[in-house]
Amino acid sequence: MSMRSDFVLSEVRYAPVWSYDDEKSWPGTQCKNGGKRQSPIDIRTTDVINDFSKQFIKYGPLVFSGYHSVLVSGINNGHTVQFSTEGDVAIHPTLTGGPLEHMYRLEQVHFHWLSEHSINGIKYPMEIHFVHVRSDLAVVDALKNKDGLAVVSVFCNVQAELDEYQQESTKEVMEHIPKLLEPGKRISGIILDMRKLLSVNSESYYTYAGSLTSPDCNEVVIWIIFDTPIYLSDAQYRLFSKVGVGRHNFRGLQKVNSHEVYRPAHATITTPQIVKVLDDMVQLVAQFFRNVTKFMTKGIKTR
Ligand SMILES: [Zn+2]
Repeated sequence: MSMRSDFVLSEVRYAPVWSYDDEKSWPGTQCKNGGKRQSPIDIRTTDVINDFSKQFIKYGPLVFSGYHSVLVSGINNGHTVQFSTEGDVAIHPTLTGGPLEHMYRLEQVHFHWLSEHSINGIKYPMEIHFVHVRSDLAVVDALKNKDGLAVVSVFCNVQAELDEYQQESTKEVMEHIPKLLEPGKRISGIILDMRKLLSVNSESYYTYAGSLTSPDCNEVVIWIIFDTPIYLSDAQYRLFSKVGVGRHNFRGLQKVNSHEVYRPAHATITTPQIVKVLDDMVQLVAQFFRNVTKFMTKGIKTR
């Protein structure tokens, strides 16, 4: 049993104050003027530091607790589809270890298409963000603290058809997307097994000190980016093109300043070979959806 059947559909007020089409007008001085550790960035694997001396990854293996059964509500907030943890914080999943000195609680999970981070200039079709807040801080204080948030990032690849294992990992969450296509749509009382959305290899990741990738771009995030992607089918990915949040929902790549990206020593890292970064990303997204559409209609008689 992973989902209650008595979830409630309801509408919420929706008033967007910023848009992915116009990053220059984003509120927040750090969004406008940049800073020292803005995100997302292109991760050059040749520059990544193997953290043999535990400079950054000081706290052992990552430990995800309580991810097998997470009570959430789903919402289309006009920028993405988001699943936020519900109920008492005591039952929210927690994350410790790796580069994290403190314990963090899962606050919400949301999607970006295309991915925000890229690896050696290559983007994935999607990136899922698991946003955690330091458990000893209120959200408002976490947003002012250099390690107030920990965001775990999982890339998604798209494949024509999925094998049973791949299907199983995204089936549950994908069932809810059709109910969240319009901004303001909301569903409560869902229970998700979030372990399925996490990467299979939780010891192989990139990590760095960065920022939020949406206003106010606060430089408060410890990023943990798994290099092993999970999979969506073409049909599932196409569904996101119907989510009414504008043409795309990723922030442009930020200049690499003093960012230092680490990975656990001995981790074997894979590199993606899917979508090349082009100058005009919007063009790329449009093209990608056209190709997917073409593929989907190939079997059916057209024209
Ligand atoms: Zn995000």
